[in-house]
Amino acid sequence: MNAEGDVAPQGGQGYLFVMGTFQCVRCGQPGARISAPPLPNELGNRLYDQVCQTCWQDWLREQTAIINHYGLNLMDPKARAFLMEQTEGFFFASRSE
Ligand SMILES: [Zn+2]
Repeated sequence: MNAEGDVAPQGGQGYLFVMGTFQCVRCGQPGARISAPPLPNELGNRLYDQVCQTCWQDWLREQTAIINHYGLNLMDPKARAFLMEQTEGFFFASRSE
């Protein structure tokens, strides 16, 4: 028996956090979490806490398309900052719509 977190409210806010459960902020599914923070910064920690592996893989494909589309040079701090904005927008911006 699991004394805590075994009854998760359903049908409420899509990103409600309940102890012991994980729900992806993007797809809303209780999928598998990323195995480690994918970026060495605060955003990486948020992704690790809130995004499932499937959505992260979706983003990696999208990110490759963005890098190619804009011809980003990831040695350039501005290019990296732009990509961080895109990353954050991909996962978190849609929440306010
Ligand atoms: Zn997901």
